[in-house]
Amino acid sequence: MSGMDDSSPASPEVMLTFYRRLYPFKSIFNWLNHEHTPTRLFTHREFAFTLQGDVYLRYNSFATADELKKLVCQLNPTRFEIGPIYTTRPKDKKTVRAGAFNAVQRELVFDIDMTDYDPIRTCCSGADICNRCWAFISAAVHVIDQGIREQFGYEHLLWVYSGRRGIHLWISDKEAMELTDDQRKAIVGWMTVIHGGKESSKKLSIRLNSRSLPPSLKSALDHLAAIFSDLILADQNCFGSEEGYETLLQQVPDSRIVGDLRKKWQKDPTRSSEDKWMDLKEEIKKMDKGTPQRVALTLALEDIIFNYTYPRLDAEVSKHRNHLLKAPFCVHPKTGRVCVPVDPERIDEFKPDRVPTVGQLLRELDTVGKAEGEVEEHHSDWEKTSLKPYVDMLDKHALRLMDEVRRSKREMVDTSW
Ligand SMILES: [Zn+2]
Repeated sequence: MSGMDDSSPASPEVMLTFYRRLYPFKSIFNWLNHEHTPTRLFTHREFAFTLQGDVYLRYNSFATADELKKLVCQLNPTRFEIGPIYTTRPKDKKTVRAGAFNAVQRELVFDIDMTDYDPIRTCCSGADICNRCWAFISAAVHVIDQGIREQFGYEHLLWVYSGRRGIHLWISDKEAMELTDDQRKAIVGWMTVIHGGKESSKKLSIRLNSRSLPPSLKSALDHLAAIFSDLILADQNCFGSEEGYETLLQQVPDSRIVGDLRKKWQKDPTRSSEDKWMDLKEEIKKMDKGTPQRVALTLALEDIIFNYTYPRLDAEVSKHRNHLLKAPFCVHPKTGRVCVPVDPERIDEFKPDRVPTVGQLLRELDTVGKAEGEVEEHHSDWEKTSLKPYVDMLDKHALRLMDEVRRSKREMVDTSW
């Protein structure tokens, strides 16, 4: 495996070794199944495989983690995705009458991708990402993680780096698993301020009536204002360029102020985003308190903060139970990076470029193998590599889920007396 460049896509040989020795099938099973013995959460679950040459195989299902591992090693996919739990085992789909094969349960999932931040980030463009623009993603994680826990009471949240320029959230609480498509749509609508994905051109609309903010946003505002100051003004300098400040001025509902500020900023191109934001606030302070004009402008400032800092969600991913999402610990085919779980409490320290690549992991295995004089092949070899802390994170998460299932089963027995 030596000689593989960290940035080059993984070869079939590399991928096969990765699946055979490193992929944590058991941990994935525990996380999806919520119990040690296989339940419908696993056996009736769809897996979809993308093979070399972009062949796509849907409706696979497995009785055990070993069975899954066996087929993965046989097919050696470039990646695989996890779908919903169906009324029938997905592999038996063809044997049941039409209409009897339905998705019934699935984690509530969210997808945040840098693509939706392209209009506002100034450090990179296209497929590129750096630790600076990752700050948009970490800001989104803070807001969504807190919002989901506080507004909906869900506790079993797993954040997973997508391997390139985004992050996925999987929510495994029983109540979340059982949400209908309509309920999912409602939750996403509640969480959506800025439309990501196909609807990203839509305008910001956060006011319930002309004035008040929904409670979910009111509680986020202080935090977002801090992000706005650090990330948008100081670091990204979003209003530094003419294009940048013109976008800002479009959101100011007062033509006199817009005209004055434009003149001032055109005259002095060195004014930073922080200066310009101060200029705008000063203009508003000059107006008489309580006038409708001043109130409208104050609300516009809040809207601008939301517009630049609020998480941009790809709603389509979350709305449908039967949406497939790349499994954690798959390898991103372009970057070679493993899609590892991320601790939301430490998201600010997370550096995408530090995530292990498959090439790096196999080199680590080579090194330990030589040191130990190993001949025999081991499974769960991830323990000997820098993948370990990430697998541990998933195991801890799965354990909490399994504890809860055990607890609720015991309660059911107790109350049945
Ligand atoms: Zn960047």
